[in-house]
Amino acid sequence: MDLTDPQTLARAVAEGDRRALARAITLVESAREDHRPRAEALLTALPRREALRLGLSGTPGAGKSTLIEALGMHLIGQGHRVAVLAVDPSSQRSGGSILGDKTRMELLSREDAAFIRPSPAGGQLGGVARRTREAMMLCEAAGYGVVIVETVGVGQSETTVADMTDVFALVLAPHGGDDLQGVKRGVMEAADLILVNKADRDPTAATHTQADYAAALRLMRRRAQDPEGFPQVLKVSALTGEGLGEAWVAVEALWRWRRETGHLERTRAAQRLRWFEEEFVAQALARLGHDPRRGALRAEVEAGRLSPPEAARRALEA
Ligand code: GDP
Repeated sequence: MDLTDPQTLARAVAEGDRRALARAITLVESAREDHRPRAEALLTALPRREALRLGLSGTPGAGKSTLIEALGMHLIGQGHRVAVLAVDPSSQRSGGSILGDKTRMELLSREDAAFIRPSPAGGQLGGVARRTREAMMLCEAAGYGVVIVETVGVGQSETTVADMTDVFALVLAPHGGDDLQGVKRGVMEAADLILVNKADRDPTAATHTQADYAAALRLMRRRAQDPEGFPQVLKVSALTGEGLGEAWVAVEALWRWRRETGHLERTRAAQRLRWFEEEFVAQALARLGHDPRRGALRAEVEAGRLSPPEAARRALEA
């Protein structure tokens, strides 16, 4: 089997070949320009399969990987196939990420029905890998019915992940005082579910935290894509598994409601459009970056002989 051929690779991915899937993700993540045509041919050749796309974010130590492992095992027990894409905005090299370095999700990674892939995202536009959406398409084509995109809450990464998934959950540890742990407004607004983790350790603190966030969410504008009762704040324990079944029931109920009411398709259409706009800008910049005439204009600007706006206009016109 010649996996360098995009059609063959697409077929192998669609058949559920894990090695082919890993290879396909490596191809779409490649920074080499000469890999792009094959990556695009691959994506075009993929079958479209529907998956529930779950975004999950939270500060380091909140318990994301513990939670995903426990949730993943729960889902596999229910007969689902689960893919996890862990995006780390702070890492640069492939395989050199914080997420990839520590031994994470050891149980889940041994399961045939699970596929776990850390992605470096350093230096990417928006902090989250530009290619994460493509990796997600590949996982869906490979038949994973649940795709979880995990990110550390840094910079814009949470909102970027919320913008490529169907349901977005924020994982928090209970707080001691009465502050809201500095959760950014945009992140609160994007959250469909807030999971207050580590409820086993201090149930009282968890209950207080739950109440505080529920109160904060009530002050926010009601969104059209939310049924009654959402966004929701739930107490969970990734360690004991307490509350995880309920959390999944909430995720699925929300997803089904959005699908049945047409909100899911509208959201996905808007996401595709934003993806196109981002790609357009990224590709345009990449092409312009290669224009040798810009070098001459830079020299003029540097010497103070040409104003930067004038030089930019000339560079674009050229
Ligand atoms: P991440 O950085 O958000 O992925 O967090 P981890 O999943 O690595 O968890 C950070 C630490 O919190 C680890 O020592 C976990 O064992 C611990 N932890 C995670 N979830 C729970 C929980 O529900 N209860 C308790 N008591 N500890 C937890």
